[in-house]
Amino acid sequence: MASQNRSSPTREATAESTDPETALGTARRQLDRVAAQLDIDDAALERLAHPAAVHEVTVPLERDDGSVEVFTGYRAQHDSVRGPYKGGLRYHPDVSRDECVGLSMWMTWKCAVMNLPFGGAKGGIVVDPKSLSDDEKERLTRRFTQEIRDVIGPKTDIPAPDMGTDPQTMAWLMDAYSMQEGETIPGVVTGKPPVIGGSYGREEAPGRSVAIVTRETCEYYDYPLAETTVAVQGFGSVGANAARLLEEWGATVVAVSDVNGAIYDPDGIDVAEIPSHDEEPEAVTRFATGIDDADSVRRLSNEALLELDVDVLIPAAVGNVITADNADAIAADIVVEGANGPTTFAADTILAERGVQVIPDILANAGGVTVSYFEWLQDINRRAWSLERVHEELETEMLTAWTALKDEVERRDVTWRDAAYAVALDRIGEAHETRGLWP
Ligand code: NAD
Repeated sequence: MASQNRSSPTREATAESTDPETALGTARRQLDRVAAQLDIDDAALERLAHPAAVHEVTVPLERDDGSVEVFTGYRAQHDSVRGPYKGGLRYHPDVSRDECVGLSMWMTWKCAVMNLPFGGAKGGIVVDPKSLSDDEKERLTRRFTQEIRDVIGPKTDIPAPDMGTDPQTMAWLMDAYSMQEGETIPGVVTGKPPVIGGSYGREEAPGRSVAIVTRETCEYYDYPLAETTVAVQGFGSVGANAARLLEEWGATVVAVSDVNGAIYDPDGIDVAEIPSHDEEPEAVTRFATGIDDADSVRRLSNEALLELDVDVLIPAAVGNVITADNADAIAADIVVEGANGPTTFAADTILAERGVQVIPDILANAGGVTVSYFEWLQDINRRAWSLERVHEELETEMLTAWTALKDEVERRDVTWRDAAYAVALDRIGEAHETRGLWP
């Protein structure tokens, strides 16, 4: 079907979301942009501009002092044409309906880029998890599970950890769901502890995929890892794992940061020595104070880290850090998105014009959902894979996905992000066309 004459399916939606900094605004702009270049069924695009469902629930919690507080929870389910919904659960004061919808759209594209048999979902509770005791967090999680029990399940919608939630949260969810169903159902969530059906290698998978994609991209653009400098913003699960692997594979990691600031050493930082956020929160700047040759280590702001003259920049902390305000100052040749949505739509255009290669989040950090898929397979088959097998299969999946995008970049001379969206939308659009619309 010709694409040039049709009206934009997301026009109405985009008009609603004029703020490019919101997840939903960015997700819809990206869909609009790529839809205009592609030959995809109009009806499928119209459907993809809207979530299939957004569930809003009220979650009452008895606090430790006996008082009762009521929280709001969401589960946005975007598209399930290729399989059950899949996506994280966030506990954060900024969780909103629109944010869940935008992030659920990203999950749809991410699963399709990786060719996983899932669609996108996202959810969460509007709460500051730091304000809850462990007991309160457990009660809140169990009640939330009950409220969304009818719309989740191993064949329908499979949550996973996200901001403010962790393997223990998933264990409570799995237990609450299983208790009500009358049988143990590990496949209802991923990111669980291995002792109850979680997968080895799940925790480090997003960082590992960032490292694999960085390695392949460097090789492709003729940057031998041994001569490549890397700056990593954020030293959490994603940033620390990516930095450590890249250093192990020969790259020189010259800067890392946490929320308090960055450290920079042009000769390279021994990242294996710095505790990650999970091992010891916010240890990066503290670490710098303790090293012997501290002379060569400089402290920088997080903003300055982004503008360092390095070969590869990996924003792996929070979203919207590369914006129209600093895109011209980004000096790296390659940006690999470790965080979700670190580059705004406007910044993306500027970087593309400047010839900076941006490897998008929906490929780079997709190791997380890919190993979640492995976990789901293990749960369904009641069989645990070894860590070696998880690493091998992740490597294979990442190389396959990276190569599909590289072929698209070469074939159509587009950015890596446009290539990722094209590959994803092609697969999703074809599935919609083939299945048709019922009734
Ligand atoms: P984390 O909580 O383990 O670590 C976050 C790190 O970023 C910490 O070092 C923290 O100090 C730092 N940080 C926080 N706010 C910052 C700020 N404003 N400026 C600079 N640094 C800041 O988080 P994570 O799991 O590594 O996730 C990082 C990003 O990757 C998020 O965008 C997340 O959505 C995304 N992501 C995570 C996973 C996963 O499974 N962990 C998967 C895919 C994507």
